[in-house]
Amino acid sequence: MSAVKLPESPAAFAEATWEDIAPYYAALAAAPLDDGALDEWLETWSRLEELLTEAASLAMIAYTVNTADPAREAAHLRFSTELMPRLEERSVELARRLVESGLSRPGMETTLARFRTQIGLFREANIPIFSELETLGTRYQRITGSMTATWDGEEIPLPRLQPFLKSPDRALRERAFLASTAPYVAAHDELAAIFDRMYLLRQEAAQNAGFANFRDYIFPAKFRFDYTPEDCERFHRAVERAVAPAVERVLEQRRRRLGLEVLRPWDLQVDPERREPLTPFRTEEELTGRAARVFERVDPAFGAEFRTMIGEGLLDLESRKGKAPGGYCDTLHYRGRPFIFMNAVGVVDDVMTLMHEAGHAFHAFESDTQPLIWQRHPGSEAAELASMSMELLATPHLADAGGYFTPDEARGAWLEHLEDILLSLSHIASVDAFQNWIYTSGRGGDAAARDAEWLRMRERFERGVDWSGLERERVARWYRQLHIFLYPFYYIEYGIAQIGALQVWRNSLADHRTAVDAYRRALSLGATRPLPELYAAAGARLTFDADEIAELVALVERQIDALRDEAVPAG
Ligand SMILES: [Zn+2]
Repeated sequence: MSAVKLPESPAAFAEATWEDIAPYYAALAAAPLDDGALDEWLETWSRLEELLTEAASLAMIAYTVNTADPAREAAHLRFSTELMPRLEERSVELARRLVESGLSRPGMETTLARFRTQIGLFREANIPIFSELETLGTRYQRITGSMTATWDGEEIPLPRLQPFLKSPDRALRERAFLASTAPYVAAHDELAAIFDRMYLLRQEAAQNAGFANFRDYIFPAKFRFDYTPEDCERFHRAVERAVAPAVERVLEQRRRRLGLEVLRPWDLQVDPERREPLTPFRTEEELTGRAARVFERVDPAFGAEFRTMIGEGLLDLESRKGKAPGGYCDTLHYRGRPFIFMNAVGVVDDVMTLMHEAGHAFHAFESDTQPLIWQRHPGSEAAELASMSMELLATPHLADAGGYFTPDEARGAWLEHLEDILLSLSHIASVDAFQNWIYTSGRGGDAAARDAEWLRMRERFERGVDWSGLERERVARWYRQLHIFLYPFYYIEYGIAQIGALQVWRNSLADHRTAVDAYRRALSLGATRPLPELYAAAGARLTFDADEIAELVALVERQIDALRDEAVPAG
């Protein structure tokens, strides 16, 4: 294997064409592969993918921090549309070679299971199907991405309505809600037609691979080896039984504090304590410096890792003209470092987003000790366990020494976070149960039946809000859930991870040190253990059990009540 000489850094691939890359894969495909050669072969392949994925990540980061530069856009597109798809093809070929060799090493079991599944699902006939799905996805994004609202005679992008949805002026909130929903109502037929086609293509791809429907195909395709569709249905029933009534109580409190007869959908974002919006930080230095102190309180090791990110320029958090929207945490595998991108403007949500993304970043730091690239990144159920647990471990420290908030402000932020957890579990159950129905009922190709089913799901999981006269607006909600269009079935992972994160948090209330140590150890396992073992290492159970979920919901509600009781009456 010494025949394959790799470049010294990802910079060597920054300008690469496929002709520059192909010889490395060809050499690995041709190199002798037996037990004696295996370690070096794996190491070389892994190193090659570290170099290439890092080059691709650097191109993506460079573009998202400055989308106005055409050269950066071209470089990013070259990686994402030309190089990465071909690289993935070659990777699957090498994976097939490895699997067929029958060779293995300790710590490679989960990697080989994923490789075997990928190979087993591959069908030549599905290549054009997935490519058409990509095109349809792009069309969906183009339509929704260019939506604007008419506001005071002006056409404005939808995110600019956000502040009005939080306004204490109820009539203004109603107007903002209707303005932000109207473009989806108007695009209904067009979006429904896109989904009709997506539905047919997905069912066809599943049948080509030997499955009865796309739901049955997606479980192995998403490497869901440790839970079943029936477990997901148990999760839905548990949410219906334990979470939906808790959400109703939370919303009833909100209704009373707002002094309203009934809650309408535009009453959900306004602060019932009617405080001025908080400014937890003013500059990026304040945002990052305070975060480092918060993480230090959770664990000095996390504090040190975050300071490394500050020192090495691995954070780009401030909103600036020309930056791409949204936020993400990406891993630079060759350097063994994470990178966090955000669009912070100085609001509470920015702090919560940073706590979440930092959880992913610590996962990248801790799992970098795993020698091979495939051993580091587990699926979303474990990745989101890392980030959601960090939200819960960090939030109690947001007011500590030189932190973001006064103790009373921190109490408000914590309360809001806990309420959001309950509301989001209900939403997650709706989205998952809805997709389950789409692909298994036999009627998912019928646009009217889909909309009717969505309304039934909302009645089942989301109570406490009066939607009368707003049926079209309520239906529009699922067209806005881009996962249903772009990443089918990707959603319940958040629910599974939240249930795990609540257990990590519960452990920390009893014994902070032991809970955080277990959490950190679980992160360091990367992807080398099956999901239930990763959860167990973190001190949690991978569970779909209604009683266990109800217990966690009760803990959240007790905490919510305690925080409300602590409220300082407004002067
Ligand atoms: Zn996340």
